[in-house]
Amino acid sequence: MSIPLGRRIREQLISSGFNVLNVTGLHRAASVFTRGRGAILMFHHVRPWGGEEFSPNRLLEITPQFFETVLETVQSCGFEIVSLDDAVARLGHSGRGGDKPFVALTFDDGYRDNRDYALPIMQSHKAPFTLFVTSGFADRTARLWWLELEEAIRALPRIRIELEGQTLDLPAVTSEEKQAAFQALYWRLRPGPEDRMLDVIGQLCEQAGVDVASLADRYCMDWDELRAYAADPLCTIGVHTLTHPMLAKHDDAFVRRELAESRDIIEQKLGLKTRHLAYPVGDPVSAGPREFAIAEELGFASAVTTRPGMVFSEHAAHRLALPRLSINGNWQDRRYLEVLLSGAPFALWNRGRKVNAA
Ligand SMILES: [Zn+2]
Repeated sequence: MSIPLGRRIREQLISSGFNVLNVTGLHRAASVFTRGRGAILMFHHVRPWGGEEFSPNRLLEITPQFFETVLETVQSCGFEIVSLDDAVARLGHSGRGGDKPFVALTFDDGYRDNRDYALPIMQSHKAPFTLFVTSGFADRTARLWWLELEEAIRALPRIRIELEGQTLDLPAVTSEEKQAAFQALYWRLRPGPEDRMLDVIGQLCEQAGVDVASLADRYCMDWDELRAYAADPLCTIGVHTLTHPMLAKHDDAFVRRELAESRDIIEQKLGLKTRHLAYPVGDPVSAGPREFAIAEELGFASAVTTRPGMVFSEHAAHRLALPRLSINGNWQDRRYLEVLLSGAPFALWNRGRKVNAA
């Protein structure tokens, strides 16, 4: 899943805030006020870097070495790594009585590299974690459209597609051209109706000879693999819908079905109970107050967004709209992480507001 424009701008702001804070060291002083009860970290892929020049989804992957650095850094910054159940339970406490700030580790989508590279590192740190499963990726029925778009543009020397009555015609020979074509198409398609986006990307894959059906098989764990993964005592399984849609673009019945049916399938296939949800894409355009209300009505104990921020006691009243701290593959740097974990960049970005759930 790639990130929308608002997030790009926000990341730039957070990044410039990072530079100021890193140079001044102000974040260390501020963290007493800004780091709250802790943070819920978000990961996608953890795998060795392939060195591809054209890698528009790179923000979604970090190396195993950096993953290890993340676990060491959160602990050296004084955070305790806890399960999502414990994190949510701690929201109800006052924070006094010696509770250390917490970090909860969460992974979205169900990639096989989580098992191959992240799991051994978490086991060696005895670090609990949560995996949010999209049932359609495990069944091979849902589409990893952001990877489809990447694969199609990698294969095509030129992008020609009809879009809203116009022909979009973009060169895509060099990595720079491919990068520009990806960005142009992504930002044209991403804000519009989901059906149109999937249709256009499907057409490009057909032109490029990309086998859409094989992508989930290549990258995502199937049910047998998930069952073995979920058996690790450190693992909590959460729900990440049937087809990974931007829920807020659809009607109530669709949203209810995506949340309730995926939960039923995951529980039945893996033989366990789930309490936690992650909204696909997870920005305000994909998950807002209506989705938070439906998740609550369906009885989820918590739900995480991709809205950036630390978790505060005030979130006890907003457990279905929890912020996360994205561990972004474009910034794999310990100093950057230390500044992020201080909470100071989010305090600047959110203008001091602790809860962003509107
Ligand atoms: Zn996802």
